[in-house]
Amino acid sequence: MDIYSGLNKYFGYSEFKAGQEELINGILERKDVLGIMPTGGGKSLCYQLPSVFLKGITLVISPLISLMKDQVDGLEEMGIPAAYINSSLEYNEINKIMLDIKNERYKLVYIAPERLNTVLFRNFIKDIEVSLVAVDEAHCISQWGHDFRPSYVEIPKFINDINPRPSVAAFTATATEEIVKEIKELLELRNPVQCMTGFDRPNLFYEVVKTGNKFNYLLNYLSKNYTEESGIIYCATRKTVESLVDKLNEKGFSTVGYHGGMNSNIRQTNQEDFIFDRKRIIIATNAFGMGIDKPDVRFVIHYNMPKNMEAYYQEAGRAGRDGQRSHCILMYSASDIVKQKYIIENETMSETRQEILYKNLQYLVDYCNTNYCLRNYILNYFGEKSINNRCENCGNCLDDSEMVDITVEGQKVLSCMYRLNEGFGITTVIQVLKGSKNKKVLGSGLDKVSTYGIMKDYSNSGLKEIIMSMISKGYIRITADKYPVLKLTNKSGEILKGKTRLYHKRHLIERRDTSKKEEVSIGRDIYDYDKELFNKLKELRASISKDKEIPPFMVFHDATIKGMAAYYPQNKEEMLSINGVGNKKYENYGKLFINLINSYANEKDIDVKDARNENIKETQLSNKTEDFNEDRYDLTYQSYLKGMSLEEIANNRNFSQPTIINHLKKCEERGYDLDWSRFIEDEGKEKKILDIIDRIGLEKLKPIKDKLPENITYNDIRLVIYKNKLQ
Ligand code: ADP
Ligand code: MG
Repeated sequence: MDIYSGLNKYFGYSEFKAGQEELINGILERKDVLGIMPTGGGKSLCYQLPSVFLKGITLVISPLISLMKDQVDGLEEMGIPAAYINSSLEYNEINKIMLDIKNERYKLVYIAPERLNTVLFRNFIKDIEVSLVAVDEAHCISQWGHDFRPSYVEIPKFINDINPRPSVAAFTATATEEIVKEIKELLELRNPVQCMTGFDRPNLFYEVVKTGNKFNYLLNYLSKNYTEESGIIYCATRKTVESLVDKLNEKGFSTVGYHGGMNSNIRQTNQEDFIFDRKRIIIATNAFGMGIDKPDVRFVIHYNMPKNMEAYYQEAGRAGRDGQRSHCILMYSASDIVKQKYIIENETMSETRQEILYKNLQYLVDYCNTNYCLRNYILNYFGEKSINNRCENCGNCLDDSEMVDITVEGQKVLSCMYRLNEGFGITTVIQVLKGSKNKKVLGSGLDKVSTYGIMKDYSNSGLKEIIMSMISKGYIRITADKYPVLKLTNKSGEILKGKTRLYHKRHLIERRDTSKKEEVSIGRDIYDYDKELFNKLKELRASISKDKEIPPFMVFHDATIKGMAAYYPQNKEEMLSINGVGNKKYENYGKLFINLINSYANEKDIDVKDARNENIKETQLSNKTEDFNEDRYDLTYQSYLKGMSLEEIANNRNFSQPTIINHLKKCEERGYDLDWSRFIEDEGKEKKILDIIDRIGLEKLKPIKDKLPENITYNDIRLVIYKNKLQ
């Protein structure tokens, strides 16, 4: 059997994920390996699959006792015999397992690091053939890491005493250079095959939300998105967790809480309710998540700001382990940031550490205020260079709100700061710009500076947005003092001299209290499948999960069931071709699912072959490339080819009309044939628009729109511009 057949037979997958094949081959050549892959990258498979090829056993050292049972149950489901040894077991249970290990019953044995160097275990292992030691979460060996575990340092001693020395495979999702170096040194890896995959998670849709009313936003979101699927909401404090649980339950959402202050039994029950899909949403502090492998979390919402970028990446990264499209929303709040700063200031720590914490927090603040691509912002934090500047698949890239030139506004802000001798914070600068009659302003004579009142027509929040955005772009620096002060930077001159232009989203600058983002719904799922059948299959899965007392995802992942609901498999061969159906799973559940599919198709009088072909066509279109925007444009173009109107395409594709126009523009740029005049019904309108453009040019759309009758929309103007190839 080669590794591809093994992948197929046990896991039901047909392709390896990035890095897996290389690492597995390394292990099978008896080399040491080091895999650095993001959450959801598929690290476990890298040691689980080789274990069935190797003689003897694979020992897996994992810090997460709570995960061991799940992993072992999952392996047994796939037909790979496995066991675990940790403190959750009774003495005689452990004895029984040790006996079974001796009798070569298992391929994989999970063990807590604390047990390795006990006399009992060391004596026991002498007579056992250990071919591979897999060290999961290997960064726990580093003191610099956030999860340092002293017992990890003892691992090499254990390994070196085994004769002959087994090969060692280490895995981590932490890519920091110092930590990687430490892992190699401290674990004493011998010339390891090293594989570091990218940290991009293409299936995650990142978004920053700025809203005046977070709770209303949440209600709206939860009632419109992923209404049947799981999600996590992170809050900063236990109190917020509890009050949000109460409020959401009251509104009829299926919700449980999780935080460190809870009775541990309740906490455990809540966690299981979430994992077994008995509750839809878990509301938690950052205590929740380590050791949770639930693959089908469809959204992670940060109701409060996380501590820093690294924490955010990790917490948000718990969405979409299964590679299906998922949503990561960060709710921005300036007051949360002030709180974080306060915490940093009031904890005793060295100055350097404080500086680092400030810097990390600042990166997150910048993330919230940037107009640039959010995905790139995250990747840059981890030192990854991106190929494209825009991913076209995050809140910022898809935000098609109008950009306006705010260079002049930026100049006013900077000169005001200069006039104030760079001695004041954001609030005072805004008060002066707005010409506030505030006592403090008048009392300090700030109404005498020449920039007093020069931006009185702007809203507070609009001005704040401009300043925040300038901070995030490095044109203003904010000091990390107790009373943070705005300072000019060496880049400020570019704006003051007009060498660089500043742009920002119009609606954020004009924003009073609510943002237009109140309405949320994200793009359609990439798969086309029979939704009703999908739900029936889910019910079947739920009943199996209940009988066997394993989480539903261990029976089949959502993605696997979607595959069934798209493909209507009719026999063993077809069932095995579905991603995620391996031999053992077929044996256990295949017939049940095939029967359900057939009776459903009969009842609904569905021609299975036809329906299948339809779905596959759509799906292939969607999956043509890994890049989500590719299929997005292609799908829009398909609708265009069917002769639909702009409105119909927008409804059909679930996007706004401006977005559809953008898609079509992209298609044209790629060389697809496009006849814009189809969307312009009224030649009179077109002429009016062209006349105005002739007179005033088309640098900005707003002045054009202002000079035209009310009934001519921005869409009309864009269409005319594109049709006449003016841009
Ligand atoms: P990590 O430990 O790197 O965070 P896991 O090992 O938990 O990730 O794997 C994440 C998910 O990816 C799991 O649900 C697993 O079944 C799935 N997976 C792993 N390898 C593959 C593959 N080759 N094809 C499809 N899915 C895979
Ligand atoms: Mg893992």
